[in-house]
Amino acid sequence: MKSEPVHTARSWVDAARRVVVLTGAGISTDSGIPDFRGPQGLWTKNPLAEKMSNIHYYLADPEVRKLSWQNRMASPAWSAQPNAGHLAIVELEKRNKLHALITQNIDELHQQAGNSPDKVIEVHGSMRRFMCWGCGMRGPMQRVLERVRAGEEDPACRDCGGILKSDTISFGQQLVPDVIDRAMTVAAEADVFVAIGSTLQVYPVAGAVEIARDAGAKVIIVNAQPTAFDDVADAVLPGSISAILPAILGSGARSTM
Ligand SMILES: [Zn+2]
Repeated sequence: MKSEPVHTARSWVDAARRVVVLTGAGISTDSGIPDFRGPQGLWTKNPLAEKMSNIHYYLADPEVRKLSWQNRMASPAWSAQPNAGHLAIVELEKRNKLHALITQNIDELHQQAGNSPDKVIEVHGSMRRFMCWGCGMRGPMQRVLERVRAGEEDPACRDCGGILKSDTISFGQQLVPDVIDRAMTVAAEADVFVAIGSTLQVYPVAGAVEIARDAGAKVIIVNAQPTAFDDVADAVLPGSISAILPAILGSGARSTM
């Protein structure tokens, strides 16, 4: 594992014209949204939560759906605020260096922080939207949560009667090919690729690192734990994401760590 100083990573970003950022759950933990698999993770604490994330159980069992709606209402993401890590990526966009922002997160904190929605590629969808499994209709999640609050335990689509769920990729569900294609295309166009808060174990998204690397990009990894790509990265920066990102992506002279 290589561990380049922060200022070296920063100099690559300063010299870059097309930075592609990939974010995972680790960037949102400082905003109070638990990682799924970490020691404080949702699945570690509640194995039933994993069942609720599986499309087959979800479609087959109204009880799983009822629990899922209660869980969605109680999600810490509704009150979460973007942290210094999210804001550093906004600053990168203001510097006209952000080519694209691929995220595995469903919390929309990047858009809330101020990144342009057209820069954000949500490979796992968004919990702030619902979708109908029957007719494909989509809309704001809060509209359905209002119905749950009003007493509907498992609200059905008002157009077709179909099962509603969050517009996210559940386990057992296919990724959206156009979205993945776009992520791989921008990865190949990067001159610096920064992977943040992801252990990079889930394909095809992890493959974006390889694509960027093969196309000649410098690869910077920022994650508290080791990742699957530490050996091939040009710089590995372990530690606090919300402390490191302002130092390597921001415009100010804040690289004093
Ligand atoms: Zn429908």
